[in-house]
Amino acid sequence: MNSSAIAPSQQTQEVLNQAPPLTGYNLFLSDKTLVKAVAREGAEWANQQLIDLGGLLGTEEVQRWGFDANENEPVLYTHDRYGNLRDEVVFHPSWHNLMRTSVEHQIHSLPWLKKRKGAQVARAALMMMTAQNEAGHTCPISMTFSGMAALRVEPDLVRDWEPKMLSSVYDPHFRPAQEKNGVLMGMGMTEKQGGSDVRANTTQAEQIGQSREYLITGHKWFCSAPMCDAFLILAQAPKGLSCFFLPRWTPTSERNHFYLQRLKKKMGNRSNASSEVEFAGAWAQLVGEEGRGVNTIIEMVHHTRLDCAIAGAALMRQALVQAVHHARHRKAFGKLLIDQPLMRNVLADLTIESEAATLFMARLASSFDARESDPQERAFSRIATAIGKYWLCKRACTQVGESLECLGGNGFVEESVMPRLYREAPLNSIWEGSGNVICLDILRALAKEPASLDALIAEIRLPAGSDARLNAFIADVESSLLKSRNGSDSEGQARRLAEKLALALQASLLVRYGSPAIAEAFCITRLAGDHGYTFGTLPMGVDINSILSSQLD
Ligand SMILES: Cc1cc2nc3c(=O)[nH]c(=O)nc-3n(C[C@H](O)[C@H](O)[C@H](O)COP(=O)(O)OP(=O)(O)OC[C@H]3O[C@@H](n4cnc5c(N)ncnc54)[C@H](O)[C@@H]3O)c2cc1C
Repeated sequence: MNSSAIAPSQQTQEVLNQAPPLTGYNLFLSDKTLVKAVAREGAEWANQQLIDLGGLLGTEEVQRWGFDANENEPVLYTHDRYGNLRDEVVFHPSWHNLMRTSVEHQIHSLPWLKKRKGAQVARAALMMMTAQNEAGHTCPISMTFSGMAALRVEPDLVRDWEPKMLSSVYDPHFRPAQEKNGVLMGMGMTEKQGGSDVRANTTQAEQIGQSREYLITGHKWFCSAPMCDAFLILAQAPKGLSCFFLPRWTPTSERNHFYLQRLKKKMGNRSNASSEVEFAGAWAQLVGEEGRGVNTIIEMVHHTRLDCAIAGAALMRQALVQAVHHARHRKAFGKLLIDQPLMRNVLADLTIESEAATLFMARLASSFDARESDPQERAFSRIATAIGKYWLCKRACTQVGESLECLGGNGFVEESVMPRLYREAPLNSIWEGSGNVICLDILRALAKEPASLDALIAEIRLPAGSDARLNAFIADVESSLLKSRNGSDSEGQARRLAEKLALALQASLLVRYGSPAIAEAFCITRLAGDHGYTFGTLPMGVDINSILSSQLD
């Protein structure tokens, strides 16, 4: 047919030079760095589970769930139509599909169910993949996983709740835990007058007789996933700030005095409900010792910080994959973008950051496997969690932003997924300890748990002698540590120190396990400083071809 026979309106409908949707791929098998890390850290036994989830998450249907759950935000119903209290949040069916998939794949429970080497790494890999598809729903998944770690100090709570917390059945019904097949857990620390400074909490806990039961009165300013079945919260008891287990229904199957005030209107993380909640004499049980609430809940926080680091690596990986996919299909000025020298520099630089993040998160997860039995690993985990949480979350903000630009205007459009990744990125840096607070935590670890620094330095030094730039950088880190110990402004310098420790650890991991071209480029740019202030400033001589082909078939 000759073109003049086509109606003018039809002539504009031919689509040229647009990338096809990135769908029908396996998030696990396509991530060589992750596949190798899983094998190296002894989690190969979980490969089938990882391949299954990786394939599922790459389907159009599951990708759609992510969009739908975010475009149809949860709705709070404080009352029913007759004026009775309801206090329920209603989610889109896609949210439930995402939740069910993650629970069935045991992302909330795997290491507690399978106490074998590599379980934390296997679970971290599952988490890293699902967070690439949809990050919002990982909040209650992560809190349930982490809450279990803190609950272990209370054998009766473990007896009553653990089987249902570890269940692979997702049961979204709002009813007493006794009537459910699976339960989920949340966390309530932050109050209006203070989030990081939890000792400023004003919520009060009044003991019932001489029991471990209390009535809680106060508010929480951020309480995410409020349809969870129970929460670990902090409140002031006579002996000081204490940790409590506060279920939505009391043990006698009555609704607890837990009143949802409103849901936050959030910049991102929109599929997930984050509420403000009042407790008016809500029933709760003490967890751990009265007055030692921070010490008790910190075990939960330690695990959620691991998940923030995993999520940072996940966002970077997904952003990179989308950027490369686009560049392979889009032409500009006569060439595919992937063949334009400056775009290759940008993509290679983003790849370096993503691989360094994946190696960090996998090594961190492996320390959670070993920390129960190995004091050195426990010490490493203590400080590396803070460093990983700080650094990977910070790097995600810029890496995702730059990846978004690789898609040009399409990256600014919601259907591309990039805006969702971009809005999610800063959140991981804010919650579970904002950037500064985490850096101060690193200083606390250095001062109070010197074994953590010894373990970290020992790990960084493992490839000793194999790279002169790494050796020089380690010497510089050690001098910064000395200054931090003796200096008057150690707090003011804490971010610089955190960065150096993170870079040294990432370089050490890359030299040992990374693609050689990436390890080399990391040392030239991030350690020796031959790099600009933005991504895409790799110097001449960096083997960009090998970096790109090492990651992408
Ligand atoms: C979407 C979302 C969901 C959330 N869900 C939950 C939840 O489920 N449960 C829950 O308990 N909380 C939740 N939070 C709250 C979150 O954990 C807090 O926002 C966070 O801990 C910071 O506390 P804040 O907001 O009070 O900020 P602030 O504590 O006021 O901190 C403000 C800034 O000051 C910095 N800062 C604080 N102290 C110092 C210092 N000494 N030196 C230098 N800088 C400092 C911080 O790093 C931060 O940048 C959620 C937050 C968000 C955004």
